[in-house]
Amino acid sequence: MTVPSVPHSGPVVVLASTRTVLTLSDDTLLLTPATILISLGTGKIVSVTQEVLPRSLFPPETLYQDYSPKLLLPGLVDAHVHLNEPGRTEWEGFNTGTKAAASGGVTTVVDMPLNAIPPTTTLMGFKEKLAASQGQCWVDVGFYGGVVPGNADELLPLVEAGVRGFKGFLIDSGVEEFPAVSAKDIALAMTTLKDTPTTLMFHAEMLPPIAASVGDAVQQSDPPAQPAGELDSYSTFLDSRPPVFETCAVEEILSMAHLAPQLHLHIVHLSATECAPILRNARKNGINITAETCFHYLGLASDDIPDGDTRHKCCPPIRSQTNQDTLWDEIADPNGCIKTIVSDHSPCTPELKLLPPHLQTIYQDGPRPAIRHFDSGIDMTLPEEEQQKEGVVAIGSGINVTPLETEQEKEEAMQTMPTNSSIDVSALPKEEPKKSALSVDSSVDVTLPQEEQHTKEVGHPVDLTPQTDLAPKGQGDFFAAWGGISSVGLGLPILHTTAAERAARGDAAPSIVDIVRMCSQATARQVGLAHCKGGLRAGMDADVCVFDDADVWTLRAGDMRWKNRVSPWEGHTFRGRVQETWVRGRRVFQLGGENAGFVGGLPVGRPIVERRTE
Ligand SMILES: [Zn+2]
Repeated sequence: MTVPSVPHSGPVVVLASTRTVLTLSDDTLLLTPATILISLGTGKIVSVTQEVLPRSLFPPETLYQDYSPKLLLPGLVDAHVHLNEPGRTEWEGFNTGTKAAASGGVTTVVDMPLNAIPPTTTLMGFKEKLAASQGQCWVDVGFYGGVVPGNADELLPLVEAGVRGFKGFLIDSGVEEFPAVSAKDIALAMTTLKDTPTTLMFHAEMLPPIAASVGDAVQQSDPPAQPAGELDSYSTFLDSRPPVFETCAVEEILSMAHLAPQLHLHIVHLSATECAPILRNARKNGINITAETCFHYLGLASDDIPDGDTRHKCCPPIRSQTNQDTLWDEIADPNGCIKTIVSDHSPCTPELKLLPPHLQTIYQDGPRPAIRHFDSGIDMTLPEEEQQKEGVVAIGSGINVTPLETEQEKEEAMQTMPTNSSIDVSALPKEEPKKSALSVDSSVDVTLPQEEQHTKEVGHPVDLTPQTDLAPKGQGDFFAAWGGISSVGLGLPILHTTAAERAARGDAAPSIVDIVRMCSQATARQVGLAHCKGGLRAGMDADVCVFDDADVWTLRAGDMRWKNRVSPWEGHTFRGRVQETWVRGRRVFQLGGENAGFVGGLPVGRPIVERRTE
């Protein structure tokens, strides 16, 4: 029996299981019995032994847990999450979004540059976002910057400040402060970043060039292509964003790849499998490009989406079962172009989803957020004295971790920025009035009557059925509803369940080791964190997930940890559930534990602002 050498000083934690997914020195993953020794002082893994060692080998004060036969996995790195704070904090926030992540074994999230106001398209915007995150993160949080027309001069300063990559849109993003880029903007971003260790990512949908023979009518339709059918019919929506939108955008990006041969290019949330052969061919020709797909494209199919169920709206859309099957084949193939799987967690308030009445029983933490009349620009926010803060008291610690609201609180937070941050936040602007929230494509007023905004109780079902004379227009309208799906923290149950169903049918399906590779190891690499995140090996951050792959459970609204408990996954039965989550050696979540499972009592997550070097 190999006895690990326990560090002479400082407390240690020992986690063990007969079923652990380790990362070996050559980066291969191995499902094996293992014992992991963690230094609480550094939060790092000190040593890994490929057998389950008995408790008696360690000093008596050691915190020792043998989880056999549950799986011990590296924490997931979700490389595509929209946290929306500051600016649209009523949609999501650092506190609730990272709690949802922690409850599902996700130990690092990487925040997208849009939907917060300001967006992360300038250094100043990044500083504001960092300040807003202070004291609120339950897991570690990295950040992307944005590429928009005219911000090329901001890209390298954002790299210096620690952003993990950049994202640009080839089609309307849905929010006015994050406009789409032209080919000229893409070329400029590529040449600016060509010698920089970063990732340039694209929302790959674009309107195909209009053929001369099509005539004027097409040119008059609003993008995306004008709907032809009932607006609450999912097929009308699906037909309006065909696969050619995606293939066209991918071709556009590839046509410029020669401008930056070393730069890592990446397609976010790939849905249409027609892109796969194009990307495979490009990779074969030496172009450094990869793609990600999302849990919802692998676990949901358009064939099953009822008309009016706008919880399923996202862009690009969820496509057919046949498309889903081909996505699974692509991820199962080692030569495939899809290397990572992410959530694209992109919530909004239930009002913006324009849910039909039968879907309008909404659970929500805390008081109703302010709702703005985004058509007229009139701020419908409740009077200040009636707005309660969304306070969260960390039970057990007695420490109030209420999000920072006042200037003074923010300034204090800035003074306690992490010492590894190279960012000067002293020059932050005073908080400006927040802009109105805009709904993508929406001209619909979904403001609720003020009385209803007052009457919601914490943690109870909320009946949002509108008064008839004040009913929001456009309920169930897939074109007017906000596009985005909430699922951060559900990745393991979704993939494990769907993979098991596929395997039972004899179809290609990833093993738990494959899931770890695509959701932890490869996502960490995608954002330049492979040296510390996404693997269980000595020297790595002790980010650990305990997954009970035999637990069968059904997701109810009350199980959702994100701010607005609306998701197409509600009511789905999963096989496999995360039992515990550890971030840098500290247990932050335990299913069924005190403080609604957040047993650590304190948000120990950190902003990741180290300059990317890999
Ligand atoms: Zn997204």
